[in-house]
Amino acid sequence: MAEENKNKRTEISELGEFGLIDRLTGDIKTHQASTVKGVGDDAAVIDGGSGYILVTKDLLLENIHFDLTYYPLKHLGYKAITVNLSDIYAMNGTPRQVIVGIGLSNRFPLEAVEELYRGMKLACDKYKVDLVGGDTTSSRQGLMLSVTAIGDVEKEKVVYRGTAEEKELVCVSGDLGAAYAGLLILEREKAEFTANPNMQPDLEGFDYILQRQLKPEARPDIIKMLDELKIMPTAMIDISDGLASEIKHICKQSNLGCTVYEDKIPIDEQTYDTARSFNMDPTMYALNGGEDYELLFTIKQDDYEKIKSINDVSVIGYMTEKNAGINLITKSGPVVEIKAQGWDHMK
Ligand code: ADP
Ligand code: MG
Repeated sequence: MAEENKNKRTEISELGEFGLIDRLTGDIKTHQASTVKGVGDDAAVIDGGSGYILVTKDLLLENIHFDLTYYPLKHLGYKAITVNLSDIYAMNGTPRQVIVGIGLSNRFPLEAVEELYRGMKLACDKYKVDLVGGDTTSSRQGLMLSVTAIGDVEKEKVVYRGTAEEKELVCVSGDLGAAYAGLLILEREKAEFTANPNMQPDLEGFDYILQRQLKPEARPDIIKMLDELKIMPTAMIDISDGLASEIKHICKQSNLGCTVYEDKIPIDEQTYDTARSFNMDPTMYALNGGEDYELLFTIKQDDYEKIKSINDVSVIGYMTEKNAGINLITKSGPVVEIKAQGWDHMK
């Protein structure tokens, strides 16, 4: 190593999460013919002979991803599973198995870990996946959860992030920003409780956004409906870091730009009212909030009539050539560039 590089120290915060991943994995060369797609999509794609195997992993760390003062362990277990399954659906696949790693400090008694597992088993039952293994270790501090999900997809049905084409329609399932709105309500109640421990939390009227934060669901129903309607998404990603970040992934990897209409972005009334009560812009919750676990996908224009029949899908814009950039046509008229802030934990 050259002398000047020896003492070089680069803060990871300078790179951000995606910059770091690019830096670490950019030069990886694969050795196996069966590795169809490595780093860079919602799941790795492995040739399994008659079909493709999909593998994905997510890590959840106490006080980074969840705060146990208001996050019930059973919900946390449930969420640890569903957020991983979401990445398998984002490849147009079907999840089959999960493997669970946990790190536990001595703060947690058996009963607490059993509660965590009750949530995981509930999610496994609901999504019909099997918990087939894992690893258990002690941790100095806090709780760590690492879940790997395994699924499969027919070879001709796999959908990547980087295969959208110009003029295709951009679609999103469900509504966005609610999980972030729920998080802000929980954080507000925690702050008030810390200031005055006799206070009772006031969570009334926020049931939808709290459920979106505490018990997120993946969207197999959307994958099934698209299949039944014979709509093949041309590119797809799940929304874990906010619409802005995910749309940028699709654009960057497809080498395209995109135009999104602000008034087409689906936002629930409770999300809207909560944002307003915090004097914030509801659209920012949808763009940068994250943890919605909805699906963002592109379709051919010819499929517009068919997609209209799905209630829970909104067409929010269209793909453009790269130089046009990634733009939002705001409700009031001006066009602004979409910038991803997202949940970049490294920053
Ligand atoms: P998602 O939000 O869909 O879970 P991520 O943004 O976490 O995806 O990851 C993007 C891509 O980078 C994925 O292909 C993932 O497997 C890969 N990746 C993330 N962290 C690492 C790492 N430490 N080493 C290798 N690959 C990684
Ligand atoms: Mg994903």
